[in-house]
Amino acid sequence: MHHTPLIATIVAGLVVAFIFGAIAHRLRVPPIAGYLLAGVMVGPFTPGFVADAGLAAELAEIGVILLMFGVGLHFSLRDLLSVWTIAVPGAIVQIAAATVMGAALGHLLGWPLFGGIVFGLALSVASTVVLLRALQSRDLVDTERGRIAVGWLIVEDLVMVLALVLLPAIATALDSGGSGGGIGAVATSLGITLLKVGGFVALMLVVGPRIIPALLHWVAHTGSRELFRLAVLAIALGVAFGAALIFGVSLALGAFFAGMILGETPLSRRAAEETLPLRDAFAVLFFVSVGMLFNPSVVVEQPLALLATVAIIVIGKSLAAFAIVRLFRHPTGTALTIAVSLAQIGEFSFILAALGGELGVLPQDGRDLILAGALISIFLNSFLFSAVAALKARGHVAEGTAAAEAEAAKDGLILVGYGRVGRFVAQSLAERGIRPRLIEAEDDRARRGEGDGLEAIVGNAVEERVLAAAGIASARRLVIAIPEGFEAGAIAEHARALNPSVEIIARAHSEAQAAHLAARGVAHVISGEREIARRMSDLAT
Ligand code: AMP
Repeated sequence: MHHTPLIATIVAGLVVAFIFGAIAHRLRVPPIAGYLLAGVMVGPFTPGFVADAGLAAELAEIGVILLMFGVGLHFSLRDLLSVWTIAVPGAIVQIAAATVMGAALGHLLGWPLFGGIVFGLALSVASTVVLLRALQSRDLVDTERGRIAVGWLIVEDLVMVLALVLLPAIATALDSGGSGGGIGAVATSLGITLLKVGGFVALMLVVGPRIIPALLHWVAHTGSRELFRLAVLAIALGVAFGAALIFGVSLALGAFFAGMILGETPLSRRAAEETLPLRDAFAVLFFVSVGMLFNPSVVVEQPLALLATVAIIVIGKSLAAFAIVRLFRHPTGTALTIAVSLAQIGEFSFILAALGGELGVLPQDGRDLILAGALISIFLNSFLFSAVAALKARGHVAEGTAAAEAEAAKDGLILVGYGRVGRFVAQSLAERGIRPRLIEAEDDRARRGEGDGLEAIVGNAVEERVLAAAGIASARRLVIAIPEGFEAGAIAEHARALNPSVEIIARAHSEAQAAHLAARGVAHVISGEREIARRMSDLAT
């Protein structure tokens, strides 16, 4: 067979990631751990097949583009501006804190000051992929804390764009002994970069909304699914790449703006669906590419330095983020989620590390520490997220238990989810004088439920503890008003384990979900399409 490194890398990446992901699933550890390990297996530091790390990293960039595009679809300019006041100071304080800690560690290790600063900067930026995957898998992107985390990420992204341009200029200035010419060059690069970023944002906000939605509408009207799918990919990838090429902004930022502009149109939901499968596949390749860069010998050769690096990423950065979010008077739960979201590093850190190496300021040790720190912090991240969720559920359940159980005998009705559907369910029930007990995963939504006179328990209804606290044992009916049919299936299963006679009503978005729910003993499966069809056929006869 002829030489096909690209195909070999994609195939090896996906196949090995699948195998390790499946094993991780069986062992009940986060799949990301499996993907990272898959990367180590196909990487250059373990025997056997070696995939092309450069190609893997490039493929991972496609994942970054599609992820940011998807997030942009959910975001409006208003959302972005509403979190700006906390995201800008938050990101800047956190970057400063991490940079100081990194530089201090570098100093202890005997590196030059500038090298330590580059090292600290690399530890300060969180990975887009890790953060978005964590938020998406927990349905947090559309919540206030999700928006703050994404806004924060965008500020970090902008700072990195500046850093990548300024570092070479500063390195040259330092080489020339800090002469006036060197400083002038730094100021010029800064000015040009700011102009370019400003130009890009202005272009996207002024011209983008006139062209991009119109183009997509036109394609939608051709009726060709294939063309629509192509149009979405062409817009996401084209704008990202064009932005990077012409304006020097990051691919992620370009994709985010492309998504944000499309998000204002009614076609955004369809656009999001079209990119989902590709997005997930390429995001997996991101984790594989991180694993490939990991050189296990660092663990043996510099255990203490590595421990300190991981501590800066996971503890130091989190404390800084937590403190600033609390300072802005957001609730502890929000502060915890944001701190944990950002307690990892990834793609930008690798780019900075590589640049630091090229400029001859960051020693090889520093680069190895960054790569190993990334792998370990990403690995720890999913566990940290689960720990925070558990902590929250426990805290709130403890508050809710006594009251909820006292109420338990009242109506015997529990409602899960206070979103688009749950709210209407509660409203109709209230008109009939029935007040269900509410289980809602999101603080702010649960609070809204309480404002509407419901007793709310904050927590994930998949957990038996949460169901028990809501009084499932004595409930007659359980209404699961969450959009994810398979997750609803898991809730139904646990609910029936605790109370076999409870009558369950749930939502489904596909026939597969409906069958899944029915198989788990859900008495009434309500699907949007069927209800619409029923009403339409009623009207047609
Ligand atoms: P919507 O997508 O607008 O119908 O809203 C669904 C609501 O259900 C959201 O407010 C979610 O926070 C909430 N939700 C989703 N999954 C769970 C779960 N497993 N336990 C409790 N609440 C959930």
